[in-house]
Amino acid sequence: MNPRQWGLGDRRRLATRDYPAGVRALVDARQGGRFCVECRALGIVTPPDEPLQLDHKQPLSEGGDNHHLNLQWACRAHNCARGARKLAAPRRPTWARRRARRPEEA
Ligand SMILES: [Zn+2]
Repeated sequence: MNPRQWGLGDRRRLATRDYPAGVRALVDARQGGRFCVECRALGIVTPPDEPLQLDHKQPLSEGGDNHHLNLQWACRAHNCARGARKLAAPRRPTWARRRARRPEEA
């Protein structure tokens, strides 16, 4: 199994744990680490108890595949939110809205 070829044209819906470790390592290497790209874009730190999942940049439902170049890490909240929305403008997940309340709202 060559991780660089793995998943090309493969549009099966898989759990993150079903991706080979070599594929996950390629996603880590391209991102520069294992973190939620949407949390990072918002300047917030994903809590350690929030699981990271492999997110498809082009969704499987729109012709995307399981190749590493189509994958990025996202926290579960952001991954679920992206699945429900077409246009992915990063938005604060529910846990961040809960924890990061501004002083004037408190
Ligand atoms: Zn996130």
